[in-house]
Amino acid sequence: MSYVEEVLAKVKEKNASEPEFLQAVEEVLESLKPVIEANEDVYRREALLERLVEPDRQIKFRVPWVDDKGQVQVNTGYRVQFNNAIGPYKGGIRLHPSVNTGIIKFLGFEQIFKNSLTGLPIGGGKGGSDFDPKGKSDREVMAFCQSFVSELYKYIGADVDVPAGDIGTGAREIGYMYGQYKRLTNLYEGVLTGKGLTYGGSLARKEATGYGLLYLTRELMKCHGQSMEGKICCVSGSGNVAIYAAQKAQQMGAKVVTVSDSTGWIYDPEGIDIELLKEVKEVKRARLTEYAAARPSAQYHEGRGVWQIKCDIALPCATQNELFLEDAKQLVANGCTAVCEGANMPTTLDATKYLQDNGVLFVCGKASNAGGVATSALEMTQNSERLSWTFEEVDAKLEQIMINIYHNIDDAAKRYGMEGNYVAGANIAGFEKVATAMIAQGVC
Ligand code: NDP
Repeated sequence: MSYVEEVLAKVKEKNASEPEFLQAVEEVLESLKPVIEANEDVYRREALLERLVEPDRQIKFRVPWVDDKGQVQVNTGYRVQFNNAIGPYKGGIRLHPSVNTGIIKFLGFEQIFKNSLTGLPIGGGKGGSDFDPKGKSDREVMAFCQSFVSELYKYIGADVDVPAGDIGTGAREIGYMYGQYKRLTNLYEGVLTGKGLTYGGSLARKEATGYGLLYLTRELMKCHGQSMEGKICCVSGSGNVAIYAAQKAQQMGAKVVTVSDSTGWIYDPEGIDIELLKEVKEVKRARLTEYAAARPSAQYHEGRGVWQIKCDIALPCATQNELFLEDAKQLVANGCTAVCEGANMPTTLDATKYLQDNGVLFVCGKASNAGGVATSALEMTQNSERLSWTFEEVDAKLEQIMINIYHNIDDAAKRYGMEGNYVAGANIAGFEKVATAMIAQGVC
């Protein structure tokens, strides 16, 4: 058995109840095989893979809070500090009923490689809770966030671990969390990113993941002799990543014809009206039925179905495992040329393989959605400098980072004889820096 297979077997045995974590580890380790095999003796002696797949620490805690009826509610909080070989732990906080240890571990594990790819000094971590902000009053969300941070604050800090937003955690939640951290520690420091602009937030952070996705997609297309102009794009999701991905795609001359949420999806052949979508999702926090009601050209459908619409480029921006093998087949049959992930691990392993085997340009989230965390790291830099950069400065840095990521993953794939395999390229390029740092720092 090869070293990779041995480690994979151990991970499966030890984490059998965490399918998303196993999926993420399998994807990474399988694609690292050529790198590991080239240095197998060293990596084996160092137990490098065993160390890489075991978080530095996992924190799990009770989050009690009082709802508007005076009833005490109890949620579970998580923070997984996975690897800080190249910088302080960095990764978002997910608030969604589906959150459990396995999901936070998969996200934290992916974050190690993504953060490395940005070229910035940030390690991998992730956190969250099974709390659902949907349908809660602002006071209830504040009560939850204050309780969550009353425990989490012990483990985070501007040079230790810097959480950010993710599904269910936007500017409102980050604000409440930051306020409570400040109150408990008396520190005014860059401990969270995605902050409001009046208290240390960075311009362009809100737009960064979606914009970054499109900067990378455009570079990918350019290097394959194509442009974004006139391309039909299918986007899934209608949250932070989806909205700004759709906006930038339209600014680049493409037409985005779909968005979705957890109850249904929109097909709008005239192109999604971004301002209306923002009004429905960012201001009213409403369902997509409201978008359809206000837009005669839009068709609303219950359930899932975005990937059946004919498109040139597919941008999954909702959540993990939302693009399945049958969707991949439909995309290929419809002539789709590129799939770039805005969400984390939205494409299942068999769907990824099908897309790659059928000549679709496929870029995995840890490369294509790294613009969010990269801009979070730029927010940390501004906080350390006590300065605020302009939108244009941050956006220009983000664009350059995404172009660099594309070329780094392309080069890494070519170096190991896997030209065009951007999943392998991303994993290899992300891994190399972390592995070198881990070995240099000794057994820890
Ligand atoms: P948001 O909470 O802003 O939006 C999430 C969107 O996905 C919503 O439209 C939501 O619909 C939909 N969604 C969530 N869960 C499901 C589900 N189980 N089934 C169907 N639809 C679902 O989150 P973000 O836009 O911030 O995050 C989207 C993805 O991008 C996640 O995978 C996240 O980890 C990843 N990501 C986010 C970054 C960021 O900067 N925000 C950075 C890098 C990656 P509904 O409102 O109905 O729940």
